[in-house]
Amino acid sequence: MIVIDEKAIFDVISLKKPVTVALNAPDGMLPQVQQTAMNITKKFDIPAFVLADTTWGTCDLNSNGAKVLGAEILFNIGHTNKLETFPGTQDNVIMIDAFDDISFDQVIPKAIEIFEGKIISLITDSQHLHQIDTVKEKLEKHDIIVKIGKGKGQLNDGQVFGCEFYPAMETREQVDANLFLGQSNFHAAGVALSTRIRTYILDPYFNEVRDVTDFAKKIEKRATLKIYKATEAKVFGVIVGLKEGQFAKITALKFKKELEERGKEVQLLALTDITNDRLKNFTGIDAFIQVACPRISTDNEFDKPMLSTPQANALLKMLKNEKLDNYLEIPHWL
Ligand code: SF4
Repeated sequence: MIVIDEKAIFDVISLKKPVTVALNAPDGMLPQVQQTAMNITKKFDIPAFVLADTTWGTCDLNSNGAKVLGAEILFNIGHTNKLETFPGTQDNVIMIDAFDDISFDQVIPKAIEIFEGKIISLITDSQHLHQIDTVKEKLEKHDIIVKIGKGKGQLNDGQVFGCEFYPAMETREQVDANLFLGQSNFHAAGVALSTRIRTYILDPYFNEVRDVTDFAKKIEKRATLKIYKATEAKVFGVIVGLKEGQFAKITALKFKKELEERGKEVQLLALTDITNDRLKNFTGIDAFIQVACPRISTDNEFDKPMLSTPQANALLKMLKNEKLDNYLEIPHWL
């Protein structure tokens, strides 16, 4: 079950005495956030708005939405990270931890069967970060050498985001496999593709150890196919994402310039939520490049080829007649 650190929220409200607050969190936590909002109103008798738009990462805080509502504080829940402020956001954001309290005890024996005598890298997402050291100790009692790679930027040691994999990249030369704590095929597949080593999930809900390497390869195959299709495009739509932490206008203009140098026509677009439905309104464009969240392109289907930043870099190499390289084998897909 997801447990929100409500005490931290209450302490901040007691200290700062806001008249209105707002809260947001990833979709899976919204039921708990609804309850926390009601608890705030009950305890302090102030309005607490749940911002119901998506917030997939610290790149997507919607601090401006909270400002428009007149909320002095936006509690962004569940994106545990090392930083306290974020470039491009308003100054009203306070990050609140939310942890999954499920135990890994039942599933650990299954991991021991597979990894005994091996060296593994342990990684996880924000919700299971508090369990990483305990799981490490339990595995090490059974002849498994466990590495936890160093964090960087917003990432704590052993933590990965959907597009940032520094801890796993640091250990990849030293280990036989990656083991991801949690349930997220999305995060684990990213780890598999950036590190190029076999990657498993230690899933306490399904009580299983799951190999996601082939699943990740399918994502890459689809992403690569889109690059090949885009080589034939004459007109490109280059999209700047308008979410606070995903704004990359300079990258978009760089792609525009480089594509035009190779005889392509480029139209510039800007969008908050980049979806196939929105793009259906545009005619005469053969392929899109979006410079916001790379997983929009790698994990979703669009009618036209939709490339992310690393895919667009690979495309430009192909247009220069260079060989297609392992364009996802990088620690940060931006
Ligand atoms: S994967 Fe996308 S949503 Fe997640 S941190 Fe990266 S840019 Fe943000």
